[in-house]
Amino acid sequence: MTDTVFPPRPTPVIPVEGTAGFPVGRIFCVGRNYADHAAEMGHEVDREAPFYFTKSAHAVLLSGQDMPYPPRTADLHHEMELVVAIGATAKDISEADAMNVVFGYGCGLDMTRRDLQAAAKEKRRPWDTGKDFDNAAIIAPLRPTADIDHLTIKLDVNGKTRQQAKLSDMVWSIPEIIADLSTLYTLQPGDLIMTGTPAGVGAVVKGDVLHGTIGDFAAVETTII
Ligand code: MN
Repeated sequence: MTDTVFPPRPTPVIPVEGTAGFPVGRIFCVGRNYADHAAEMGHEVDREAPFYFTKSAHAVLLSGQDMPYPPRTADLHHEMELVVAIGATAKDISEADAMNVVFGYGCGLDMTRRDLQAAAKEKRRPWDTGKDFDNAAIIAPLRPTADIDHLTIKLDVNGKTRQQAKLSDMVWSIPEIIADLSTLYTLQPGDLIMTGTPAGVGAVVKGDVLHGTIGDFAAVETTII
Protein backbone atom coordinates (compact mmCIF):
# COMPACT_ATOMS: atom_id res chain seq x y z
CA MET A 1 0.00 0.00 0.00
CA THR A 2 1.20 3.50 -0.79
CA ASP A 3 1.69 6.06 1.93
CA THR A 4 -1.27 8.23 2.77
CA VAL A 5 -1.10 11.92 3.65
CA PHE A 6 -2.95 11.24 6.88
CA PRO A 7 -4.01 8.02 8.58
CA PRO A 8 -7.15 6.50 7.02
CA ARG A 9 -10.22 7.18 9.13
CA PRO A 10 -11.06 4.06 11.13
CA THR A 11 -14.10 2.06 10.04
CA PRO A 12 -16.81 2.08 12.71
CA VAL A 13 -17.31 -1.37 14.24
CA ILE A 14 -20.62 -2.45 15.79
CA PRO A 15 -20.39 -5.00 18.62
CA VAL A 16 -22.07 -8.35 17.95
CA GLU A 17 -23.51 -10.65 20.60
CA GLY A 18 -21.20 -13.61 21.08
CA THR A 19 -18.71 -12.95 18.30
CA ALA A 20 -16.34 -10.45 16.70
CA GLY A 21 -17.47 -6.97 15.70
CA PHE A 22 -19.20 -5.90 12.49
CA PRO A 23 -17.30 -3.28 10.44
CA VAL A 24 -19.72 -0.86 8.81
CA GLY A 25 -19.70 -0.22 5.06
CA ARG A 26 -22.66 1.78 3.82
CA ILE A 27 -25.89 2.68 5.58
CA PHE A 28 -29.08 2.54 3.51
CA CYS A 29 -32.29 3.91 5.01
CA VAL A 30 -35.83 3.10 3.91
CA GLY A 31 -38.33 5.96 3.75
CA ARG A 32 -41.97 5.72 4.88
CA ASN A 33 -42.04 2.03 5.69
CA TYR A 34 -44.87 2.15 8.26
CA ALA A 35 -48.22 3.47 7.05
CA ASP A 36 -49.00 5.32 10.29
CA HIS A 37 -45.66 7.20 10.17
CA ALA A 38 -46.18 8.11 6.50
CA ALA A 39 -49.59 9.50 7.50
CA GLU A 40 -48.20 11.59 10.38
CA MET A 41 -45.71 13.12 7.92
CA GLY A 42 -48.53 13.99 5.54
CA HIS A 43 -48.01 11.24 2.97
CA GLU A 44 -49.71 8.11 1.79
CA VAL A 45 -47.69 4.94 1.50
CA ASP A 46 -46.52 4.28 -2.02
CA ARG A 47 -46.76 0.53 -2.68
CA GLU A 48 -45.27 0.97 -6.14
CA ALA A 49 -41.67 1.06 -4.96
CA PRO A 50 -39.71 1.64 -1.76
CA PHE A 51 -37.34 4.60 -1.68
CA TYR A 52 -34.05 5.15 0.06
CA PHE A 53 -31.60 7.67 1.38
CA THR A 54 -28.16 7.04 2.82
CA LYS A 55 -25.97 7.90 5.76
CA SER A 56 -22.19 7.72 5.90
CA ALA A 57 -20.67 4.96 8.00
CA HIS A 58 -18.96 7.83 9.81
CA ALA A 59 -22.36 8.99 11.08
CA VAL A 60 -22.40 5.96 13.42
CA LEU A 61 -22.63 6.56 17.15
CA LEU A 62 -22.39 3.40 19.22
CA SER A 63 -25.31 2.83 21.55
CA GLY A 64 -24.49 3.82 25.11
CA GLN A 65 -22.59 6.94 24.10
CA ASP A 66 -24.00 10.42 24.60
CA MET A 67 -25.23 12.31 21.52
CA PRO A 68 -24.20 15.97 21.45
CA TYR A 69 -27.15 18.07 20.24
CA PRO A 70 -26.20 18.70 16.61
CA PRO A 71 -25.61 22.15 15.06
CA ARG A 72 -27.94 24.10 12.72
CA THR A 73 -31.17 22.55 14.02
CA ALA A 74 -33.87 23.40 16.53
CA ASP A 75 -35.90 20.25 15.79
CA LEU A 76 -33.85 17.09 16.35
CA HIS A 77 -36.14 14.05 15.98
CA HIS A 78 -35.87 10.41 16.99
CA GLU A 79 -36.78 7.62 14.57
CA MET A 80 -36.58 4.17 16.15
CA GLU A 81 -35.76 1.48 13.56
CA LEU A 82 -34.85 -2.15 12.96
CA VAL A 83 -31.34 -2.39 11.54
CA VAL A 84 -30.58 -5.24 9.13
CA ALA A 85 -26.89 -6.13 8.85
CA ILE A 86 -25.74 -7.57 5.52
CA GLY A 87 -23.17 -10.37 5.68
CA ALA A 88 -22.66 -11.39 2.04
CA THR A 89 -22.55 -9.87 -1.43
CA ALA A 90 -25.91 -9.50 -3.18
CA LYS A 91 -26.64 -8.22 -6.68
CA ASP A 92 -30.06 -8.71 -8.26
CA ILE A 93 -30.93 -11.21 -5.56
CA SER A 94 -34.43 -12.74 -5.47
CA GLU A 95 -36.77 -12.26 -2.52
CA ALA A 96 -36.57 -16.03 -2.00
CA ASP A 97 -32.78 -15.86 -1.57
CA ALA A 98 -32.58 -12.48 0.17
CA MET A 99 -32.55 -13.76 3.74
CA ASN A 100 -29.38 -15.73 2.95
CA VAL A 101 -27.36 -12.50 2.92
CA VAL A 102 -28.64 -11.27 6.30
CA PHE A 103 -25.95 -11.42 8.98
CA GLY A 104 -28.15 -10.25 11.79
CA TYR A 105 -30.30 -7.51 13.30
CA GLY A 106 -30.13 -4.72 15.79
CA CYS A 107 -31.84 -1.64 17.20
CA GLY A 108 -31.08 1.72 15.65
CA LEU A 109 -32.01 5.37 15.85
CA ASP A 110 -32.22 7.35 12.60
CA MET A 111 -31.67 10.79 14.17
CA THR A 112 -33.04 13.54 11.97
CA ARG A 113 -32.67 17.33 11.78
CA ARG A 114 -36.35 17.58 10.88
CA ASP A 115 -36.27 21.32 10.19
CA LEU A 116 -33.46 20.93 7.66
CA GLN A 117 -35.18 17.91 6.08
CA ALA A 118 -38.45 19.84 5.80
CA ALA A 119 -36.69 22.82 4.18
CA ALA A 120 -34.99 20.49 1.71
CA LYS A 121 -38.28 18.78 0.84
CA GLU A 122 -39.93 22.16 0.30
CA LYS A 123 -37.21 23.21 -2.12
CA ARG A 124 -36.91 19.76 -3.74
CA ARG A 125 -33.32 19.53 -2.59
CA PRO A 126 -31.48 16.49 -1.21
CA TRP A 127 -32.13 15.40 2.38
CA ASP A 128 -28.48 14.88 3.29
CA THR A 129 -28.07 17.68 5.82
CA GLY A 130 -31.26 16.56 7.55
CA LYS A 131 -30.31 12.91 7.72
CA ASP A 132 -26.57 12.33 7.25
CA PHE A 133 -24.65 14.20 9.92
CA ASP A 134 -22.29 13.42 12.80
CA ASN A 135 -23.73 10.85 15.26
CA ALA A 136 -26.99 10.57 13.28
CA ALA A 137 -26.99 6.74 13.11
CA ILE A 138 -27.06 5.31 16.63
CA ILE A 139 -26.62 1.55 16.48
CA ALA A 140 -26.92 -1.07 19.24
CA PRO A 141 -25.03 -4.39 19.38
CA LEU A 142 -26.19 -6.79 16.68
CA ARG A 143 -27.67 -10.24 17.09
CA PRO A 144 -26.89 -12.87 14.47
CA THR A 145 -29.95 -13.96 12.55
CA ALA A 146 -33.18 -14.37 14.49
CA ASP A 147 -36.89 -14.74 13.83
CA ILE A 148 -38.17 -11.17 13.88
CA ASP A 149 -41.65 -10.84 12.38
CA HIS A 150 -43.56 -11.15 15.65
CA LEU A 151 -41.36 -8.69 17.55
CA THR A 152 -42.42 -5.33 18.94
CA ILE A 153 -40.36 -2.21 18.23
CA LYS A 154 -40.55 0.48 20.90
CA LEU A 155 -38.89 3.73 21.91
CA ASP A 156 -39.11 5.36 25.32
CA VAL A 157 -37.92 8.92 25.97
CA ASN A 158 -37.34 9.67 29.67
CA GLY A 159 -39.28 6.51 30.51
CA LYS A 160 -42.39 7.42 28.48
CA THR A 161 -43.24 5.41 25.38
CA ARG A 162 -43.19 7.52 22.22
CA GLN A 163 -43.14 4.89 19.47
CA GLN A 164 -44.49 1.34 19.45
CA ALA A 165 -45.40 -1.05 16.63
CA LYS A 166 -45.01 -4.59 15.36
CA LEU A 167 -42.21 -5.24 12.88
CA SER A 168 -44.88 -7.04 10.85
CA ASP A 169 -46.46 -3.60 10.29
CA MET A 170 -43.67 -2.70 7.86
CA VAL A 171 -44.97 -1.85 4.39
CA TRP A 172 -41.96 -3.45 2.70
CA SER A 173 -40.69 -6.72 4.18
CA ILE A 174 -36.99 -7.41 4.74
CA PRO A 175 -36.74 -9.75 1.69
CA GLU A 176 -38.52 -7.17 -0.48
CA ILE A 177 -36.18 -4.39 0.64
CA ILE A 178 -33.02 -6.46 0.14
CA ALA A 179 -34.14 -7.71 -3.28
CA ASP A 180 -35.02 -4.19 -4.42
CA LEU A 181 -31.87 -2.54 -3.01
CA SER A 182 -29.76 -5.20 -4.71
CA THR A 183 -31.03 -3.99 -8.08
CA LEU A 184 -29.70 -0.49 -7.28
CA TYR A 185 -26.45 -1.39 -5.49
CA THR A 186 -24.25 -4.42 -5.12
CA LEU A 187 -24.77 -5.04 -1.43
CA GLN A 188 -21.61 -5.95 0.44
CA PRO A 189 -20.78 -7.46 3.82
CA GLY A 190 -20.80 -4.56 6.27
CA ASP A 191 -23.72 -2.72 4.75
CA LEU A 192 -26.53 -1.78 7.13
CA ILE A 193 -30.17 -1.14 6.27
CA MET A 194 -32.25 1.06 8.57
CA THR A 195 -35.74 -0.15 7.75
CA GLY A 196 -37.94 2.84 8.58
CA THR A 197 -39.74 4.10 11.64
CA PRO A 198 -43.26 3.68 13.02
CA ALA A 199 -45.48 6.60 14.04
CA GLY A 200 -44.69 8.74 17.04
CA VAL A 201 -41.54 10.52 15.88
CA GLY A 202 -40.87 13.72 17.76
CA ALA A 203 -38.35 16.18 19.06
CA VAL A 204 -35.74 15.56 21.73
CA VAL A 205 -33.81 18.13 23.73
CA LYS A 206 -30.66 18.20 25.84
CA GLY A 207 -31.00 15.93 28.85
CA ASP A 208 -33.42 13.50 27.21
CA VAL A 209 -32.68 9.80 27.67
CA LEU A 210 -33.63 7.57 24.73
CA HIS A 211 -34.14 3.83 25.19
CA GLY A 212 -35.22 1.76 22.19
CA THR A 213 -35.97 -1.95 22.10
CA ILE A 214 -36.94 -4.68 19.66
CA GLY A 215 -37.92 -7.91 21.40
CA ASP A 216 -35.02 -8.82 23.67
CA PHE A 217 -32.29 -7.49 21.38
CA ALA A 218 -29.70 -5.24 22.99
CA ALA A 219 -31.38 -1.85 23.51
CA VAL A 220 -30.25 1.27 21.69
CA GLU A 221 -29.58 3.96 24.27
CA THR A 222 -28.31 7.49 24.30
CA THR A 223 -28.56 10.71 26.28
CA ILE A 224 -28.76 13.99 24.38
CA ILE A 225 -26.15 16.38 25.78
MN1 MN B 1 -35.95 6.77 9.25
